[in-house]
Amino acid sequence: MKSKLLIYVVLIITAVLICIFLAYQLIIKQSLVDSIAEDNLARLSFSAEILAYNFSHNDIEQSKNWLTLKSELRDVERVILVNANKVVVASNQIADEGKPLLEIDANIFNFVSSDSRLDMDENLLQLVQPIYELGSNKASHYLYLKRDISNKLEQLQRQVFYLSVMLISLFLFFFFLYLKVKRQELKRTIFEIQGVITQFNDGAHSARVTENKQSDFFPLQCTLNDSFALNEYLQSYLNAQAQFSELVNGLVTDAIVETDAQGMITHVNKTAVTMFGYSHETELLGSNVIVLIPTQYQRKHSQSMMNHSGKKHMEQVLNTIRNVAAVKKNGEAFPVEIVISQYKVNEQQRYIAFVRDFSDVAKYEQSIKKLAYFDSLTELQNLNGVIHQLKAIKLPMQLSVIELEGLQDLNDVYGPKVGDQYICAFANALTELPLQGIIAARVRSSRFIVLHQSSLKEESKQFHKLNKKEVELDDFYVKLKFVRCTAKLLSSESLSDLLGQCDLALRDLGNRSYGSVVKIDVDFLEELKYQAWLKQALEKAIEEQDLYFDYQPKFDTKTLKPCAAEALIRWQCEGEVISPGVFITLAEKKGMMPQLDRYVIRTVCKQIRQWLDMGLEVLPISINLSARHLFEQETIAVIFEHVGEFDIPPHMLEVEVTEYGLIKDYKKTAINMMRLEKAGISVAIDDYGTGHANLETVLSLPIKHLKIDQSFIRLGMKSVKGQAILENIISLAKSLKVVTTAEGVETQEQLDYLKNAKCDAIQGYLLSKPMKLKDFESLMKESNKAV
Ligand code: C2E
Ligand code: CA
Ligand code: CA
Repeated sequence: MKSKLLIYVVLIITAVLICIFLAYQLIIKQSLVDSIAEDNLARLSFSAEILAYNFSHNDIEQSKNWLTLKSELRDVERVILVNANKVVVASNQIADEGKPLLEIDANIFNFVSSDSRLDMDENLLQLVQPIYELGSNKASHYLYLKRDISNKLEQLQRQVFYLSVMLISLFLFFFFLYLKVKRQELKRTIFEIQGVITQFNDGAHSARVTENKQSDFFPLQCTLNDSFALNEYLQSYLNAQAQFSELVNGLVTDAIVETDAQGMITHVNKTAVTMFGYSHETELLGSNVIVLIPTQYQRKHSQSMMNHSGKKHMEQVLNTIRNVAAVKKNGEAFPVEIVISQYKVNEQQRYIAFVRDFSDVAKYEQSIKKLAYFDSLTELQNLNGVIHQLKAIKLPMQLSVIELEGLQDLNDVYGPKVGDQYICAFANALTELPLQGIIAARVRSSRFIVLHQSSLKEESKQFHKLNKKEVELDDFYVKLKFVRCTAKLLSSESLSDLLGQCDLALRDLGNRSYGSVVKIDVDFLEELKYQAWLKQALEKAIEEQDLYFDYQPKFDTKTLKPCAAEALIRWQCEGEVISPGVFITLAEKKGMMPQLDRYVIRTVCKQIRQWLDMGLEVLPISINLSARHLFEQETIAVIFEHVGEFDIPPHMLEVEVTEYGLIKDYKKTAINMMRLEKAGISVAIDDYGTGHANLETVLSLPIKHLKIDQSFIRLGMKSVKGQAILENIISLAKSLKVVTTAEGVETQEQLDYLKNAKCDAIQGYLLSKPMKLKDFESLMKESNKAV
């Protein structure tokens, strides 16, 4: 840069010198010569005037003297004075005097003879001046002068040179001054640029150089700033990319391994380091990727990296998910899912592999399988497991569906932990049953199934044993209690149907005794179907008010006159009379009792209203209500509602209920009975003697009526002990002002006996069977008349 500048400076100076020299040659020298010539001509003309004066006085000597003086001058080479005939009058060379000029010098003669007054040859200046006679314009003489002006020219040349040198020096001074200033500016700018570059490199990416429009560096500054801006953008982009990569690196659960075309690892993420059991990425970087491949596959991999067919293979595996084996640093092989992609960095091929550890997935799949096919509590199979297993088993097999009992009580009293122990103990006991090819499974919380290939006899023997078995829970023992259904499983497809049927059968067991067994066979299924049909028909009958009542009178023991009657529900379904024993049991099983009770209450109340409206003196009518539901708030509310709706005098309605309700919730029962009694509706205990209620308990309730069951009456007739019990009941009731009715009185003997025993009322076929409505109405009309 510097040398270049110097060459420029030298060239410029040379050019200036040449210019000055040329100018001197062409212009200055010429004008100098012209001015010298003019000056000499003027002087010569002045001299000619002096000489003309001399000639006018014929003072020729004076002219010669002048000429001699002139010739003495240093630069005069020749001076000649010729007359009009060109004969030399005087000359600086005395020998020439008197000679014709032509003889002396033809050149001078020609020049003098010519019109020209001035001639220049080299540095010799020739001048000629005509001398005119005074007062005329006729030349009498000619004065010729030849001067060497080289001295003058040299002098002038020197002057010009000095001036040039001065100018050049001045030029150089200012030039160097300018260069210095420029250098300063350059230094300053470079210093600033250097500073800004350092700042930029140190991370201040917003640093910029000052842009000065006046400066020669303006374009450079602009370019630099543009490049800074671009770099800043690139840097921020790279930062964002780096952050993104960092984030991705940290977040991805996949291992990322990048290699070059030779299989050397160029990049790994954190997951890769941990997945392959290394402590730091530097352990992997630069290694060949085969360190991650189990030994048995390494050769194949190397080949595929090397040869052409391998490359083709590589193209095929690119971007496809594959399940392969990988190896950890400690040599442990593990399954992975891998996807390889390729890309280029600076024209260099790179492969990037995304690797997912599949060991957990394999375990997960196993655990899913376990969840899907096994019960987590007992580790027995679940229903899915059984279905799955049945696909590979030869059928038929004997199936037992078992409902474990008593679980709820254990849960309630000891907590679910003990409940779980009970379930597990039962599960263990099932698996230990010595039945051939046994498969035990838990299909619901307390529902188990057992499949086996032993005989039915063996099965019942084993379950019978199991039913007596005691198991230890926490720190106490309990007996295993269960009910079970048994059936033959002919095909795996029929399992679900069979389980459904067993479900129904187990529900239908109702108040089952532990160890009960239901055999699921054709009869059972027929019965099941019939019950389902009957249920629907009953629902429809209730809805369409197809149920009606027979009325069985109760008679006063003393007078044998009807004193009350019991409304007994009847149902004729498709022409066939269905016994209340059947459909009421069904309604109880299927949870239809509240519905049926409502129907009874409403229909009987409505009937009483009709009779009242007919002007009959209505006998108190008792209705039978479900013992399970009677003492629920809702049933009482329904009774009050309809008694109110049909405006029934309360004493005309009596409610019969079995002992069941008393045992179930004595307190609640007592409260509700009190409410009924207070409202004037009396409550009768029905079928007394069939339940387990203690007589004192029954009589301590606010009841007004005790109906003694037919079985008691028969018992009383049979033995002395039975008699004592019956009489005891009647007398105790009497002492508490509770009316007694004997049910099912069929013989005169029974009637006589009960009369004796002072039983208040009699109900039974002996005096009247349940009567059709019309007959009962006639009975009431007759007894009205009788009164
Ligand atoms: P229950 O309440 O004990 O009704 C008396 C049953 O004994 C009636 O049978 C009646 O026909 C029968 N009976 C009466 N006298 C004699 C007799 O001398 N000998 C014999 N062997 N039986 C006699 P029914 O009508 O078949 O009713 C059976 C059961 O159905 C009733 O027993 C009662 O528990 C229930 N029931 C009847 N009607 C209704 C009702 O409307 N609602 C409810 N919840 N249950 C009803
Ligand atoms: Ca009854
Ligand atoms: Ca009864």
